[in-house]
Amino acid sequence: MASLEEEVVGDIWCNFEAYKNLVIMCDRFGSRFAFTEEEKLARDFIEKKFEEYGLENVRVEPFKYFGWKRGKASLEVLEPFEKKIPVISLVLSPPTPKEGLEGEVVYLGSGSPDEFKAKKDEIEGKIVLCSSAASPDGKRYHRRTKYGYAVEFGAIGFIFMNHNPGKLPPTGSLRPAYRMAGEIPAIGISMEDGEFIIRNMKGRRLRVRMYNESQIVPDATSWNVVGEIVGSKYPDDIVVLGGHYDGHDISQGALDNCSGVVSIMEVARTLAKHKGSFKRTIRFIAFGAEELGVTGSTCYVDQHKDEIPRFNMMINVDGGGRFIRQNFEVHGPEELVPYLQKIADEIGYPMKVKTTLSTASDHWPFYLEGVPAASLESVPDPMLEPLVRSMGRGWGHTPADTVDKVDPRALKEASLVLSQFLIRIANEEEFPIKHTEKKKILKYLEERGVAEQLRIQKKWHPESIR
Ligand SMILES: [Zn+2]
Repeated sequence: MASLEEEVVGDIWCNFEAYKNLVIMCDRFGSRFAFTEEEKLARDFIEKKFEEYGLENVRVEPFKYFGWKRGKASLEVLEPFEKKIPVISLVLSPPTPKEGLEGEVVYLGSGSPDEFKAKKDEIEGKIVLCSSAASPDGKRYHRRTKYGYAVEFGAIGFIFMNHNPGKLPPTGSLRPAYRMAGEIPAIGISMEDGEFIIRNMKGRRLRVRMYNESQIVPDATSWNVVGEIVGSKYPDDIVVLGGHYDGHDISQGALDNCSGVVSIMEVARTLAKHKGSFKRTIRFIAFGAEELGVTGSTCYVDQHKDEIPRFNMMINVDGGGRFIRQNFEVHGPEELVPYLQKIADEIGYPMKVKTTLSTASDHWPFYLEGVPAASLESVPDPMLEPLVRSMGRGWGHTPADTVDKVDPRALKEASLVLSQFLIRIANEEEFPIKHTEKKKILKYLEERGVAEQLRIQKKWHPESIR
């Protein structure tokens, strides 16, 4: 007779429900961006699927945030010569005045803190241009850090340039929407058009006029969709498997993060058939509004403060299922690395578990509250990892993040790995990894310079979860 694990793995391998769900959510609904009808279609679809798969306690949990509606945006070069450049608004940008926002452009390279500090006195009253590339020393800084410095140093506008070719202007959020919206207008521009500006501002002034008709909607509502398989022996101990279902409105958000959420749904489908086989509770969460500064998960942790001590572990899937080879990256504590590595070795899955420190996805609020947290990531092939890393988000956050980029086999692979890990984690007699004290985490973040970046992003609020 096949073991539970053999049945689950066979079930995933022999079905293509994950890919079917991906096509429905991307092709039929669309981006699922927060504050759109598409978001509601996705919310209802996931809820219906969780019910259909037999999860227990299925529910939709609302939360409030600063919503945003995309409006038309454009950019005109006025000096040294006139030229119109196609752009899109960045998420949570306030509108410009009707007559536009005029200013001189100051180029900040990759927009790292060092580059900003070196040109500190040249920024006031100007429009900052910087790219999504890694800094000259190879470190990658988040767009929200770059925007934060632009605001801090008195810029009046912000232009964010893609560092990958393809005529693809990038989008992305400017501030944590669970607290606030952006202060100065901001737009995204393709690498090619950004290079045009940089070329033509060498040794002379370059002035532009920016238009942005986007609107901030305070008091918007989004939703997290939740379902469980209640533990048979320790129902109060919870392993959370989560990932965001929203994508950016300019694309299908197929890689970021429909591939992640359909992998989670596939794990739910296959494990729920074996209710009673898991000692502790597995809680599946599809988070809303992640693309607006990790908003859904932050609000979730805030709404479930009392349960935090009962969360044994949080696994985030925002990057897993995009490429064939799956890998766990541990946010903390470090003991989680050998623990997950041991499971990978046991199931014979080629994986090198490593640590990472990333603030910009749904593991973050859990990690900050001390919950052991890891993310499922993926690469096409370990040999190609440096190339993939140099691309940063790659097609993510651009109109090119579409279903055709997703390899159906990668979805199976992510679901297989997640289910095999969960079968073991949920059946531990005693979960071996303890929570980390918040004080210790805050100290670590200060020492690593992460606190400084979060301050500039307006995401450093250790006294409160949101
Ligand atoms: Zn994402």
